[in-house]
Amino acid sequence: MFKRILQLLYPEVCFACSNTLLDSEEFLCTRCRLELPRPGLFLPRPNWLSLKFDGWMEYEDAHCFFLFSEGGRVQHLMHQIKYQGAQELGRFLGFWCGAELNKYNWSQEYDLILPIPMHSQRTRLRGYNQAHCIAEGISKSTQIPILSHGIERVKNSQTLIHQNRQDRFHALEDVFSVSNPELIQGKHVLIVDDTLTTGATMLALGQKIKTAGARQVSFLALAALQ
Ligand SMILES: [Zn+2]
Repeated sequence: MFKRILQLLYPEVCFACSNTLLDSEEFLCTRCRLELPRPGLFLPRPNWLSLKFDGWMEYEDAHCFFLFSEGGRVQHLMHQIKYQGAQELGRFLGFWCGAELNKYNWSQEYDLILPIPMHSQRTRLRGYNQAHCIAEGISKSTQIPILSHGIERVKNSQTLIHQNRQDRFHALEDVFSVSNPELIQGKHVLIVDDTLTTGATMLALGQKIKTAGARQVSFLALAALQ
């Protein structure tokens, strides 16, 4: 009852298209749930996503849940998770993504989920790490534990937009540090981030944990630019 009154005063809107939500809808309207572009997980390789990783390191899978386009509904969603404090939205979408993963016969594959660590300074400013929120949702639906310590972001890298791929990659070499390698030794680690553009950050972290003893590395971005 109280929720209904609140909704009359402050109608809840879809995080993707801003239309008013029905009582039965949560975070997203049914139309957006159906229409948001999802390329599918475990795509046959090579594909546009794997090409961002192929040749840089040995890895197992590369997934993205949504396709990101400039000015599109997915960008609007990601913006709110990243900059507007929509942590619950991150968990909700992570949970959905995990539920889709569950439809594939992969359950034995990943031992740990590693959200891309954020620099402590930035976490203090923002109050949360959006990759961690997404990872929490994925973990909830897949039951794969999250690794949230033992790997740190030690450099607060600046925007690398103007550098080429090779330069970006080298600039990111010392961004992450593994202080507790025994946590990942022999494990297949699924690295999770919110948005993937070139994949350079994920690759830098992937290489770092592989060198530190991870048995296998896979990547999952909630949204990726094709
Ligand atoms: Zn909508």
